[in-house]
Amino acid sequence: MYSNKVIIFSGPSGAGKTTVVKHLLKNIASQLSFSISACSRAPRQNEINGKDYHFLSLEDFKKGIENKLFLEWEEVYPNLFYGTLLEEVERKWSNGKAIIFDVDVKGGISLKQHFGEKALSVFVAPPSLGVLEERLRNRETETKEDLQKRISKAAQEMTHKSKFDKVLINENLEQACQQALEMAQYFLAE
Ligand code: 5GP
Repeated sequence: MYSNKVIIFSGPSGAGKTTVVKHLLKNIASQLSFSISACSRAPRQNEINGKDYHFLSLEDFKKGIENKLFLEWEEVYPNLFYGTLLEEVERKWSNGKAIIFDVDVKGGISLKQHFGEKALSVFVAPPSLGVLEERLRNRETETKEDLQKRISKAAQEMTHKSKFDKVLINENLEQACQQALEMAQYFLAE
């Protein structure tokens, strides 16, 4: 029933999109299926290969690009590649649910272009760049150097928010999750 629809969540790292996506997957599990991306970074503590990401070596990721295995891919940070595998999308279509994506801003714009009207694209924005920086620091998942890369990229990413169907400002995570759920339910019922 939902098999031809996709929902794309993008936004700067630390804006809260992964939490929002997890909230949707938990609350409307019967309608949504998560697109597990491939990436070339190392797993964080608690991340599981094949569940959070398909973790690939840089070499294997580059081979995948050469062999045209990706619907879209980006070098999100220098030498850190992330991408949507065509095979993953095909596999997810086959279970009849809508697909939900958690991708960077460029990837979100590419997927929206690819899926057009079938896609709802949502830009998850922090209330300010200062708040984003504080959240990323508190998260303590990145090295100092990686943290700096993410902060400097965020300002540039914010300039693309008007290219998305909706902008969701995550001032309060609980409210943002609720708003996202309403947006998704409305879109899926259309
Ligand atoms: P993280 O390392 O924090 O898990 O992800 C870094 C960034 O890469 C996030 O903005 C995340 O949404 C994005 N990302 C994850 N998967 C993909 C993908 O398949 N394609 C693109 N373009 N970006 C992705």
